[in-house]
Amino acid sequence: MTDQPQIDVDRLTAFRHELHTHPEVSGDEHNTSARVHEFLKNLQPDEIVTGLGGVGLAAIFKGKSEGKRVLVRAELDALPIHETNTDLPYKSQCDGVGHKCGHDGHMTMIAGLAQAYSAERPERGEVVLLFQPAEETGKGAAEVCNDEKFESIRPDYAFSLHNIPGAKMGSILCKEGAFSSSVESMVIKIKGQTSHAAEPQHAVAASSIMPQIMSYMEEISAAGSTEDTFQRAALTWATAGGPNSYGTQAGSGELHYTLRTREPEKLAALWDGVVKKVNGEIKAYNETHGLTEKNGLSATFESVEPFMANMNHPEAVELVKKAAQANALEYVDMKLPNDWGEDFGYFTNLEGVKGVMFGLGSGKDTPPLHHEQYDFPDELIPKGVGVFHHMVASIDHDM
Ligand SMILES: [Zn+2]
Repeated sequence: MTDQPQIDVDRLTAFRHELHTHPEVSGDEHNTSARVHEFLKNLQPDEIVTGLGGVGLAAIFKGKSEGKRVLVRAELDALPIHETNTDLPYKSQCDGVGHKCGHDGHMTMIAGLAQAYSAERPERGEVVLLFQPAEETGKGAAEVCNDEKFESIRPDYAFSLHNIPGAKMGSILCKEGAFSSSVESMVIKIKGQTSHAAEPQHAVAASSIMPQIMSYMEEISAAGSTEDTFQRAALTWATAGGPNSYGTQAGSGELHYTLRTREPEKLAALWDGVVKKVNGEIKAYNETHGLTEKNGLSATFESVEPFMANMNHPEAVELVKKAAQANALEYVDMKLPNDWGEDFGYFTNLEGVKGVMFGLGSGKDTPPLHHEQYDFPDELIPKGVGVFHHMVASIDHDM
């Protein structure tokens, strides 16, 4: 039904290498955005929207007749990871920064779609090719969606993929419902009161309740070790008092955790459970010591880097399946969502949007994502373009 997309693989591969050489971290993707803009401009889309949620940008290709609007997303950001595979001819020229999540490859595939629609416009509807900033910090998708310019590109369908090291090269991995996990980091700040180190009994010490909270967190992960019960709490940072203050018993303390579940509702319940546990420990401590929240222990809770689970719409998953088949790529029906979070979930949870994120296997013999030696395999470029192109062409515009 659909013709092969007309793309220039050599030009795309060179573009991927150029992006790889000049990586930029989340929120700082100015030059990457400019490079993408330059590439898109030459392909004469009907419109380019810039300044989306910061340095994000989108190229719009209008179809030959009216229909649905489809958004295909890639991420502009790299990671604060120093590249150690120095034998790469296109190795990172930015100290301490590397494209270690393959977003250079994702951008290139969307750039390939721009080539294809430049050569031949979509039959119907409108295709929006979005290059989103700050995915790694979980901020970019929300910032793009909350930008007033987003209303002009608000889609009926939203597609994205992630390359998956460890999965067979070129295989397509997908499932209905949750595709990635719900992830949210929690900063627990416990306020207490210091004392002389000779009289720790006179302190109101956060450390009096920190072990109980930490062991509660260990129990969360232990209780979530099976596939059905999956839930995780990972300690990322803990502190109390200050370094070189040996004369002082610490008063206040902080615990930073990343919480993770398969479904958003479970994450909310997990979060509430932790808040209840901390407040319960505080209440018990204060009561035992004849204190109140005013002169005793108290706590605040802060949410950092929340990632909503990607909720894949059945109709969009069907498009992925058919596109895999049409491109002669193996389709793997995933039993469970991925453990990692991805902020594309923000798009798939938008009202009225039929969204899907799927995985594209980048081979079994390759380092994992965020590894200092990871490099996106170029042979995936035409495969990703082919799948997206087929999906866009297969949308039922009359539904
Ligand atoms: Zn990524």
